[in-house]
Amino acid sequence: MELTINKTRLTLVQGDITRQDTDAIVNAANSGLLGGGGVDGAIHRAGGPTILEECRKIRAERGSLPTGQAVITTGGNLKARHVIHTVGPVWQGGHSEEAELLASAYRESLKLAVSMRLSSVSFPSISTGAYGYPVIEAAEIALKTVTGFLRREGSPEEVVFVLFSEPVQRVYEQTLQKLMQEMKD
Ligand code: ADP
Repeated sequence: MELTINKTRLTLVQGDITRQDTDAIVNAANSGLLGGGGVDGAIHRAGGPTILEECRKIRAERGSLPTGQAVITTGGNLKARHVIHTVGPVWQGGHSEEAELLASAYRESLKLAVSMRLSSVSFPSISTGAYGYPVIEAAEIALKTVTGFLRREGSPEEVVFVLFSEPVQRVYEQTLQKLMQEMKD
């Protein structure tokens, strides 16, 4: 599924984010920045040790990365030249500012991409794996936040959501269709 928002091409695809050739891919990291399971593990495995070296440096300089914030490293051996590491919230039932923190993770990643003059960025479905965020709610926050940012800022030129499974891709597609319909009404 593909559409244009302001000047940006927004695409939803099913796949493995480590294979994307956008300028940056976003990692659903944890605050420790030293790797983990899920998409984090896949990115470090595919990108090689230079990503972890840069993460260690960042950690040594500024400590652990707070939830909702983002930092950037090299893409190492990935096709993407950069990895933007952000930390989504752990789902705790919905009353611990999870929605705002998840929106912040997307927004801060996009801000960093724009400040680095990157023209294309790929996102995974942040927080919906090990962190347990319900996919329907997370998809709505992800897509509202990203489309809102693109409407206001007009960049980056291309944003791709790379959804790992077909059911998750379907939820994102239905959510985006609903949001676009609401925009028209
Ligand atoms: P979190 O800890 O933020 O929940 P996870 O990595 O556990 O992060 O899961 C986030 C999402 O990323 C899940 O939907 C998971 O299926 C997906 N995922 C796992 N590996 C990949 C990959 N290689 N490419 C894209 N998405 C992935």
